[in-house]
Amino acid sequence: MISTRTRLFGLIGDPVSHSLSPIMQNHLFKLFGLDGVYLAFRTAGERLAEAINGARALALAGLNVTIPHKSAVVPLCDYRSPEVELLGVANTLVFRDGRIHAFTTDHSGFVDSLGGEKSRFSGSRVLLFGAGGSARAVAFALARLGIARLTIVNRSRTRGEELAEFCSRELAISAVEAISPLDPVLGGKITEAAILINATACGMFPHIEESPLSAFDLIDRRHFIYDLVYNPRETRFMRESGARGAAVQGGLDMLIFQGLAALNHWFYSDYRLDPAEMKKLKSLLNRELA
Ligand code: NAP
Repeated sequence: MISTRTRLFGLIGDPVSHSLSPIMQNHLFKLFGLDGVYLAFRTAGERLAEAINGARALALAGLNVTIPHKSAVVPLCDYRSPEVELLGVANTLVFRDGRIHAFTTDHSGFVDSLGGEKSRFSGSRVLLFGAGGSARAVAFALARLGIARLTIVNRSRTRGEELAEFCSRELAISAVEAISPLDPVLGGKITEAAILINATACGMFPHIEESPLSAFDLIDRRHFIYDLVYNPRETRFMRESGARGAAVQGGLDMLIFQGLAALNHWFYSDYRLDPAEMKKLKSLLNRELA
């Protein structure tokens, strides 16, 4: 029951109407017996500072931050975790004694979502599509997983090269390069790679016929395909790759694990989901997806 003790959490971004976070977090609060409520707040860029200060004034307990505010919110916080300092993005804010603490949980969400697939990464060659905020978080995770070689494939060449430079300088990935999706060397890179990851918005609802890869003839059963996109449940990238025998995974598990990590920051806790609870949450969220 909502009372004067109920703590308020939320999501700020623009847009937020498509977000699964309110359904997921309110479900988790109930599951773990936490007295909280979670709402979505559409927040325009020019009002971000005002929104954060308003949240501080009202003593909100915590916020998630999504596109397009993950970078802009960082300087507005009083404390930044080492990962936020390094990556320059935050997706979780904890309001504590009038101060705002910034964390990022996308990298840990990605790693936690891998489960038994984690063992594929050590010493492997990886193709990472995208060079935005989530690609940066995934690159950080890939460095920790001990990959051998990283090829970044991004539409904007400059942005891809900037991420490659960051991976080499800050993440100590020694073999890293950036290419464009139109580069003729892409085919050879696909053949050499064991893992292909989509961290672009390509294929996301409603553009479900888009894919970071336009031809799938070089994909086979040796490949592991990971798509950060979770809506639709099965993207074209996953469907076409799966049809050629590749192992495929979508972004829903990552969404759940990054959300659970945010909740654990807010409540200083270490809540986990057992397989039955995970299955129930996934089926609840899947009902909302295309
Ligand atoms: P972002 O910072 O805005 O970066 C977007 C990236 O997608 C850039 O590399 C951009 O390339 C590329 N891109 C966008 N539209 C494209 C198109 N039509 N063709 C080719 N490339 C395109 O966004 P982000 O935060 O990294 O998010 C990227 C995706 O990851 C989104 O779909 C998001 O929903 C998903 N995501 C999922 C989770 C999860 O928990 N599963 C968590 C975070 C993000 P340019 O640099 O050339 O513009």
